[in-house]
Amino acid sequence: MSQRFYSTKSPDQFVDIKEAVLRSLPADNGLYMPESIERLGHGFWESWRDLSLADIGVHVAKAIFRDSIPADELEKITRESANFPAPLVTVKEKAHVLELFHGPTLAFKDFGARFMARLMGWLTRDDDGLLTVLVATSGDTGGAVASAFHGIPGTRVIILYPKGKVSGLQEKQLTTLGGNITALEITGTFDDCQRLVKSAFLKREMSENLNLTSANSINISRLVPQSFYYFEAAKNLPEGVKPTFVIPSGNFGNLTAGLLAEKLGLEVEHFVAATNRNDVVPEYLREGEYRPRPSVATISNAMDVGAPSNFARLEEIFGYEWEAMKARVAGYAYGDKITRETIRRIKSETDYTLEPHGAIGWLAAEAWRESHPEAHTVVLETAHPSKFLDVMEEELGAGEVEIPGRLACLADRQKSAIQMGTKEGEFHDWLSSIRE
Ligand SMILES: *Cc1c(COP(=O)(O)O)cnc(C)c1O
Repeated sequence: MSQRFYSTKSPDQFVDIKEAVLRSLPADNGLYMPESIERLGHGFWESWRDLSLADIGVHVAKAIFRDSIPADELEKITRESANFPAPLVTVKEKAHVLELFHGPTLAFKDFGARFMARLMGWLTRDDDGLLTVLVATSGDTGGAVASAFHGIPGTRVIILYPKGKVSGLQEKQLTTLGGNITALEITGTFDDCQRLVKSAFLKREMSENLNLTSANSINISRLVPQSFYYFEAAKNLPEGVKPTFVIPSGNFGNLTAGLLAEKLGLEVEHFVAATNRNDVVPEYLREGEYRPRPSVATISNAMDVGAPSNFARLEEIFGYEWEAMKARVAGYAYGDKITRETIRRIKSETDYTLEPHGAIGWLAAEAWRESHPEAHTVVLETAHPSKFLDVMEEELGAGEVEIPGRLACLADRQKSAIQMGTKEGEFHDWLSSIRE
C-alpha cells in the first residue's frame, strides 16, 4: 500500500508522495501530513537496540512511505543520507547530549536535506528537464541544502542569500561548490530573498517552465529522517530508561519529528521544547493563547522565529487541544545573558562545549530535572560550536573551539556568486535566461 498525504487544512483530500514532496506547501497553505502512522512491527522491536542508525532509518522510512517508493530505492536513499553518526554523550549523571552535528555542514539539518535531495532526485528521474530548487537562506539551511543536492543528477539549486549578512564560512558553504549549485548574492535582507523566492513561485508559467520546487523546512520529507535519531538516542540509554527529549526549537520541525517517532511506538517519558526570547510556543503552553509576532535577534539565531511554521502540525497531532499538548510537551525560554553564562559554566564544570542553541536546551533540561529528579534528559545539540565562533570565543577565549577540517578547508576556496538587486523584474529576467 502507498502512503497518502493530506493538508492540515483539508483533511479529506489526499495527494501522493510526488505531489507532497515536490510541492512542499499545499495550495490551501496548510501542511502535509501522512494519512496514517502505525506502530513499528514486532520484528523491529525485537532487535532495535542492536540496529545501527541507518538500519533504524530503513525501518522508519518504510513505515512512513510504505510502497510509495520501491523498498530497495528507499533503503538506498536512507543509507546515503544517514551516513554519519549521532552519538549520545553522557555529560553528567542523567544528563545526556545527542550530538547531531557530525554531518557535512555541521548541523542537524544535514539529515533532512540529504534525504530530501535524494528523494527528489528519485521522484523526478523520468521527468523532462531539470528540477530547479529555489531556496532563500539566512545561514544554515542554504549550506545544508547546497551540500545535499550537490551532484544529484537532474537537479539544480539556486540559493539567495543577503549580502554581508551571513558569516564568512557560511558564505563559503554556499558559494564554493559550483556544479549544479548557483548562489545569488542579494543586496538586501533575508526578507528580500524570501520575497523574491515567493514571487517566482507565484509566476505560474515560470514556475512550470523551470520545474521549480522549494527546499524549505516544512517539507514532509525533511521531517521523516529527523525521527531516526530519537530511536538512536533511546537505544543507547540503559535498558528500561525512557528518555525525556529536550529540543532547542525555532520552527519546531525537530519536535514534530520526535512526536512522529513516538507515534511509531518509541517510548518517550516527556518532551521539553526550549526557545530563546522568541517564546511564542512556551507562552502558548503556559497561557493557551497562540500569538505569533515578528522575531527578535538573539545569539541562537537559528531559533529566531516569531511564527513557527510547524505549529500547524503540532496542533494537528494533538487534535487542536491545548490541554493535550500541554500534558505532553513542556516549554522553557531563556535570554542571551544566561545562555552565555551557561556555555562558560558547563565548560568549567564538565569540560563539555555547548554552543548557544544547545546551551538553551541544557538550561531547560536542568529546570526539568529539578522538578523531576528521576528523569534522564537528552538535549539535542543541533549544531557544532564552530558554527558560532564569535560567541564561543567571547565566552571561552580565542582558539578554544576546534574547527573541523571540512569547515576550515573552505576558507581558502574561491567564492563564486552572482550579484543581484532586490527587484523582482531583475530576478525573473535572470531566471528566464537560465532555461536550457
Ligand atoms: C534550524 C535549527 C534549529 C531549529 O530547529 P527547528 O526544527 O526549526 O525547531 C535549532 N538549532 C539549529 C542550530 C538550527 O540550525
